[in-house]
Amino acid sequence: MLQLITILNRCHRFPGFVYQQARFSSDHKSIEIAVRPRKGSKAVCSRCHQPAPGYDQLSERRFEFIPFWGFLVFLLYSMRRVDCRSCQAVVVEEVPWGDGKRTLTRAYMLFLARWARRLSWKETAEAFRTSWEKVFDAVEHVVTFGLEHRVLGQVDAIGVDEIQYAKGHKYLTLVYQIDIGITRLLWIGKERTIESFQGFFTAMGKDVISKIVFVCSDMWEPYLKLIRENCSEALHILDRFHIVANMNKALDQVRAEETGRMKREGRAPVLKKSRWLLLRHSENLGSDQRFRLRDLLRYNLKTVRAYLLKEAFQQLWEYSSPAWAGKFLDEWCRQTMRSRIEPMKKIARSLRNHRELILNYFRAQKLLSSGVVEGLNNKAKVTMRKSYGFRTYRVLELALYHSLGKLPEPESTHDFF
Ligand SMILES: [Zn+2]
Repeated sequence: MLQLITILNRCHRFPGFVYQQARFSSDHKSIEIAVRPRKGSKAVCSRCHQPAPGYDQLSERRFEFIPFWGFLVFLLYSMRRVDCRSCQAVVVEEVPWGDGKRTLTRAYMLFLARWARRLSWKETAEAFRTSWEKVFDAVEHVVTFGLEHRVLGQVDAIGVDEIQYAKGHKYLTLVYQIDIGITRLLWIGKERTIESFQGFFTAMGKDVISKIVFVCSDMWEPYLKLIRENCSEALHILDRFHIVANMNKALDQVRAEETGRMKREGRAPVLKKSRWLLLRHSENLGSDQRFRLRDLLRYNLKTVRAYLLKEAFQQLWEYSSPAWAGKFLDEWCRQTMRSRIEPMKKIARSLRNHRELILNYFRAQKLLSSGVVEGLNNKAKVTMRKSYGFRTYRVLELALYHSLGKLPEPESTHDFF
């Protein structure tokens, strides 16, 4: 087992400590490596991070290291306590391989956290014969480090989005940086309220906020108000993704109401299973679906008329001039207001009210990569699905920062893979 200690000294060496001896556990399922302080080296106070005279020694602790060839690996070490003069207290020492709170070594936490970005947390725990809770600890450690050490720098553009994370209208507010060069998750707010969104501006600080040039969001009034107040200089854009999403919601509402009414009146269920047919962009339908859609469009139904209005609206995004886009928008709203389809009329009213913010989309078109908020929203949804297990706010917060935050990682003595 001398060789194992040689390897450890190569990849996981810390001045002040030596690997003493490696042995199998009694059941031969794990390897235990005894660690001791190097002779003459002083313990470091975990509170002030300065060397301090020794006080006593605690009983042996086990620190979980990266598994090796099918064996769990533990470092065994008896922590010293120091009598720290500057802290005027007896304090447990700081060890470079652990973070003081958790039983996993830093190296193993970074290792697990990297895998937890590719696999679900449950899969990660299973793959490395550890528990879901330890994967949680690992991600928490890495994300906490990342948030403390990230550099915000200049943020030109942000996108505000919300995402439902549990039944009963539980939403998170997500703020992304959507600069051409860098897209990342900047901030997560619990709930979708004025107070929670105000937390973003407070957390980022005036220095970062005042330099923002573009803000993309949906039409939710409290967002609009806070953005006006905090980023008065920025160009506020209602982006395509949110407008299309609202329109799909309206169409879905029309379809659901009409389906119910037809059922009550005993009419043929022509709208059955039409939901995805109508919500999806017609270009993305297969030939069977396209045939069904053509069939459906022959009926004189509110749903069909709402669908045609939605499809006609798509043309808006092809304009490059704000003036022509504005003319198209006005004409679409006029037609829709005459449609007698209430959910669509509501959309038209809202679009009219936010006309200038929508046209900002065309004013900023060449400066922003459109569709970026949509892409991040999809990624966030995938992340939420992968971190299943315990759907608490804290779990989601960590999982989202971990996969979308592009956070810096703790330094490592070796690139374990
Ligand atoms: Zn101290």
